[in-house]
Amino acid sequence: MSVAHMIDGKAEAARLLDMLREDVSRLRAQGVAPCLAVVLVGNDPASEVYVRNKVLRAREIGIESLECRLPADTDEPALLGLIARLNADPAVHGILVQMPLPAGLTESAVIDAIAPAKDVDGFHRENVGRLVLGEPGLAPCTPSGCLHLLRRIAHDLSGKHAVVVGRSNIVGKPVATLLLQANCSLTVVHSRSVNAAQLCRQADIVIAAVGKPQLIDANWVKPGAIVIDVGINRIEVDGKPKLVGDVDYASVSRVASAITPVPGGVGPMTIAFLMKNTIAAAAAQHGLRQQAPASAA
Ligand code: NAD
Repeated sequence: MSVAHMIDGKAEAARLLDMLREDVSRLRAQGVAPCLAVVLVGNDPASEVYVRNKVLRAREIGIESLECRLPADTDEPALLGLIARLNADPAVHGILVQMPLPAGLTESAVIDAIAPAKDVDGFHRENVGRLVLGEPGLAPCTPSGCLHLLRRIAHDLSGKHAVVVGRSNIVGKPVATLLLQANCSLTVVHSRSVNAAQLCRQADIVIAAVGKPQLIDANWVKPGAIVIDVGINRIEVDGKPKLVGDVDYASVSRVASAITPVPGGVGPMTIAFLMKNTIAAAAAQHGLRQQAPASAA
């Protein structure tokens, strides 16, 4: 029995970050110090970890970072006021507001408030529109990371049948859009789909973005398929905390031709693409370079 190739997102992200470090040096030589502002409201432990990792990665490659921490009881005008100040600050090139926000704050209002040119998460409706139209803009990081890993494994995605499991605005829909732009045939499976496993079993490429621990087992996967697991789920095994994906790695790795692990798959790519977007945003704001087309991610 053959075992699937493990797609090493950690190594690929490290390779990408090395290249991005050089981009930062080139920008600095032209008098631009790329700067990412990270806004954290409250003290959700998982968000704390995400923010710490993003700031660390930024510093490692020479990107300036600004950590803006607000208490959990911050009201919307105060948060929108901070975003307005960051929008107006020419030294800040990228703004990321860590989600989820505490109850009482409306995520869509906060995303709408970020200047599209600084929206390094790629969630603003202007960037979403650009992504759908295939125009240059800032594309969301996790979907871009998925496409990058796929292209490292299968150079030409044209004509492949991709099944995306999940239809969220931050992963499922944008990754489906990028797969279409890569000329895949596309099926999106979601919570109301009938026979989700059967649909998924037709795929050459499976992208799992569900948020259900190990939902996708070998019965969902065609022999030889490429499987990208976006899920990050915290479970307990023998009383100990464990991080698992939406894919049952043990069973699927005996069927698939290639598969991303959790952790060490898509997660590191998300951070690498956040850095890439910050650098592109800084360059664009200084008129130094055109941002890459969203579809090129
Ligand atoms: P979400 O809850 O917003 O969306 C989940 C989607 O799954 C929904 O569209 C729903 O229709 C679908 N779904 C639910 N049950 C289903 C079922 N039984 N069969 C088929 N589809 C079903 O989640 P999200 O924000 O898209 O995140 C998905 C997962 O990806 C989570 O585990 C999240 O933690 C993870 N995530 C990882 C990264 C990363 O950097 N690796 C980034 C974002 C999200």
